[in-house]
Amino acid sequence: MSEFAETPTGARPTAAWPSSTTAVAGVIGFPVRHSLSPLLHNTAFAAMGLDWSYLAFEVPPGALDRAVAGAAALGLRGLSVTMPHKDAAARLATRRSRQVRRLGAANTLRFDEGAIVAESYDGDGLLDDLRDGGFDPAGRRCGVIGAGGAARAAVLALAEAGAHEVVVVNRTVAAAWRAAALAPTVVRVGRPDDLRRTDLVIQATPAAMAGGGPARETATVGPAGQAEHLLTGQDEEGRDAEVSPVVAGVDPSWFGAGQLVVDLVYDPPLSPFLAEARRQGATVRNGLGMLVYQAARQIRLWTGAEPPLEAMWAAVAGDVSPADPQAAAGPSM
Ligand code: NAP
Repeated sequence: MSEFAETPTGARPTAAWPSSTTAVAGVIGFPVRHSLSPLLHNTAFAAMGLDWSYLAFEVPPGALDRAVAGAAALGLRGLSVTMPHKDAAARLATRRSRQVRRLGAANTLRFDEGAIVAESYDGDGLLDDLRDGGFDPAGRRCGVIGAGGAARAAVLALAEAGAHEVVVVNRTVAAAWRAAALAPTVVRVGRPDDLRRTDLVIQATPAAMAGGGPARETATVGPAGQAEHLLTGQDEEGRDAEVSPVVAGVDPSWFGAGQLVVDLVYDPPLSPFLAEARRQGATVRNGLGMLVYQAARQIRLWTGAEPPLEAMWAAVAGDVSPADPQAAAGPSM
């Protein structure tokens, strides 16, 4: 019996697909083999009934120009762009959105009749997720930890969404000043404890990814009989180890009820930073929603069709954690 004949009814035939008419898109990054994007996009294309396929291309630093020229020549429809290529992708595009021009970085390319169109959907994806959870940044006090690509996208998006104030806190102050320059009337560089008084805190550094594994909380009794809480995660070798939830001097035990705390890291789904903020009563959310919503915007750009958000959420929720990641990250906003 052929492989095709064994394909269960309703599933894509593995022997006959992809075919000569299949449209191809993908993600370029280095490394990229861990990426959830192929799962997310291929689930969406299948649910939409589109003859599209999405692949991961590991492109080393310095090889982006050749990779993008090759992709255009081969007729790829679009590319998601991740680290370390976001700045170079913005430079080599022939048309850039306003956000790309302001950020100097792109996370999306579309090949369009000889043109290479660059978009940046990280900030819009974050806003979509915040609003989906019921949080509108307009008029609110916001804080961003970090000043790299994701933090800069968040800063610009929050400022453009009408935030009353955006305070940037970063390990390296010079980088924080550069991020603040994106919207100087609304954004300022702050000290870690300035974030105590914000409505929204975005943790936009990879600090929580070190070691990996979801944070677990253990209650113990201290020397004076008081309750103490110990956060454990995993060290580089995957062994349980005590972890600090503090990032760039910001201690999530400062946060509490009435504050929303978002960690852009989604693996682990519950970072030590989020676990501690949740323990203090803050509403918390991880970065999975931002990933899903920026992918949804890419699909709209490339195909012109509406992406199946429910199917996309279901795909990544099952992959990241045995538990539902939004549940792991606490109640939605
Ligand atoms: P990046 O450009 O390399 O920037 C990293 C930033 O984090 C810098 O401001 C750096 O501070 C700071 N940082 C790094 N390690 C730190 C540590 N141990 N303690 C304190 N600060 C530290 O990275 P990025 O592209 O912005 O990505 C940041 C995080 O967001 C990553 O975890 C990434 O996976 C995540 N992300 C998520 C999504 C999503 O869809 N959910 C999208 C994009 C990015 P210095 O300036 O002092 O070096």
